[in-house]
Amino acid sequence: MNPFEYARAQTVDEALLQLQRGTARLTPTDRPGAAVNERPRFLAGGTNLVDLMKEDVMQPGRLVDVTSLPLTAIEGTRDGGLWLGALATNAVTAQHPLVLERAPLLRTAILAGASPQIRNRATNGGNLLQRTRCHYFYDAAVPCNKRAPGSGCPAATGIARQHAILGASEHCVATHPSDMCVALAALDATVHVQSPRGTREIPFLEFHRLPGEEPEIDNTLAADELITHLTLPPSAFADHSCYLKLRERASYAFALVSVAAALVLDENGRIQAARIALGGVAHKPWRDLSAEALLIGETPSPQSFEAAAEHLLRPAKAWGGPALPESLPGNAYKIPLARRAIVRALTMALAGVPTNTGEDFFRLEGDAA
Ligand SMILES: Cc1cc2nc3c(=O)[nH]c(=O)nc-3n(C[C@H](O)[C@H](O)[C@H](O)COP(=O)(O)OP(=O)(O)OC[C@H]3O[C@@H](n4cnc5c(N)ncnc54)[C@H](O)[C@@H]3O)c2cc1C
Repeated sequence: MNPFEYARAQTVDEALLQLQRGTARLTPTDRPGAAVNERPRFLAGGTNLVDLMKEDVMQPGRLVDVTSLPLTAIEGTRDGGLWLGALATNAVTAQHPLVLERAPLLRTAILAGASPQIRNRATNGGNLLQRTRCHYFYDAAVPCNKRAPGSGCPAATGIARQHAILGASEHCVATHPSDMCVALAALDATVHVQSPRGTREIPFLEFHRLPGEEPEIDNTLAADELITHLTLPPSAFADHSCYLKLRERASYAFALVSVAAALVLDENGRIQAARIALGGVAHKPWRDLSAEALLIGETPSPQSFEAAAEHLLRPAKAWGGPALPESLPGNAYKIPLARRAIVRALTMALAGVPTNTGEDFFRLEGDAA
């Protein structure tokens, strides 16, 4: 691990000041990507950042520990929405009664991720900013445009089973790994941030970005901005929402494809509002409002769900070199998998089945027995 400075802040103002004081690195380098990887960082649960430092993927010159900041509350807003502190842990957020009541989709998505131990440490702010799990990004011995801009992307032509099918560029086919963020995208969350210039709000769909020509930049947060909290607007999705996560083993694995699906039905059983957000398929949680619009006014049916899935996946493209079976690009399997997952998640949401995984699923199984 590289040497770094460490400071602990007790207030938001102190955290912002301590970050400003940080040098880019104790000994600045001209490594490609240094502007992103070596700049000072806030330290929350450390479950991603410390791993990346140990693997020499990131070398921040200073860490500002924000775990003592008073940003741990989970509260209801007067309009029926939610206020989620950036320093509240994923575990506390998922177990909070108001989250269960007002946004069960968020709860099931969080519980589908990581392990109880990691969720006890991981924070809401850190979850948004966790970096891709692309193997090439994590292996500092191989090229990667996200880690070392301009060095190349082995995944675009090499083994790429876990990579993007939507919104990728020739420079990067990495995916965003978070489960929580897929639900936040579906529920139209807002990210609230503070910097020495003041506060601002970022709509969730504008928070993460596609790789384009600058895959080293994951999101639209400025280097000196601290996430203070998230808000969720009131919604009527609680009775019909589902987080479906498909992965290579039943626990402790990132999504190959995940779907956050939610419906509101009118008194005639027609669809009044619909949400479909995908994880594991793009550099950001993926939402296509035009696919959701196709469902409005429809009677829920396999045909209407399939039409929305087909529409959403029209721009999907496979990447990578041969994997099994030999004749197909590495991640071509994700396109039909995503199509079926969308239909299944909408079907489960319609039936009021909240998830195929996580603690809720096991509770559901136990209840049935
Ligand atoms: C083995 C393992 C399995 C996992 N499986 C899953 C999974 O299945 N699904 C899933 O979604 N996640 C999974 N995770 C990821 C986990 O959810 C993240 O590591 C965690 O949410 C990050 O939160 P943190 O508080 O530890 O962030 P940190 O590691 O402390 O920080 C991450 C980044 O966020 C920045 N940061 C943190 N807080 C703020 C803030 N308030 N303002 C500005 N910047 C901030 C830091 O500077 C850093 O760049 C897994 C992690 C591990 C180690």
